[in-house]
Amino acid sequence: MKAAILVKQNKPLVVTQLDIPKELKYGQVLVKVLYSTICGAQINEYLGTKGPDKFLPHLLGHEGSGIVDQCGPGVTNVKKGDKVVLHWRKGNGIHLSVSQGKPPNFFQVPNLYQLSKTEAEKELKKSGLLLGEVDYKQDTTLIPFTVLDQSIVPGTVLERSIPVNIIISVEDLQDIFNQMMNK
Ligand SMILES: [Zn+2]
Repeated sequence: MKAAILVKQNKPLVVTQLDIPKELKYGQVLVKVLYSTICGAQINEYLGTKGPDKFLPHLLGHEGSGIVDQCGPGVTNVKKGDKVVLHWRKGNGIHLSVSQGKPPNFFQVPNLYQLSKTEAEKELKKSGLLLGEVDYKQDTTLIPFTVLDQSIVPGTVLERSIPVNIIISVEDLQDIFNQMMNK
């Protein structure tokens, strides 16, 4: 593959051939990039605006879109032919199945949206987490008594188990009052 590589800041890019790995590693996806551009942050990398670049040498264009060409072992959420967008920031998109169980200090926050309080508590327990404070908010768009919001974004990986607060939908304020009385 022909590539323009940033080798040294403020110097012309080096155009040369790069090898595409023949075998993908666990969790890797090979994407045929159709579109990519160089953003302002990368112009700054080139110019050295924020100091030396500790990742040199590297390519430019860290956001793009394309089509999945190959999937490595363990990849379950995309398949060959899928249209995807690429971003340099770590996403929640890759689900790993680990045969030896979770490493210590690994707690991934589950998605609690639209679950009942009991279900949410169960999901948290499965992830080694605890239910924190429960607040109630009037909302008629969701089924009453389901989770509207949670204090930690789903997919977040924590190093220790901390309580996750939730907000539960209620139809009217009388429900909130009843909940308070039942506490
Ligand atoms: Zn960027």
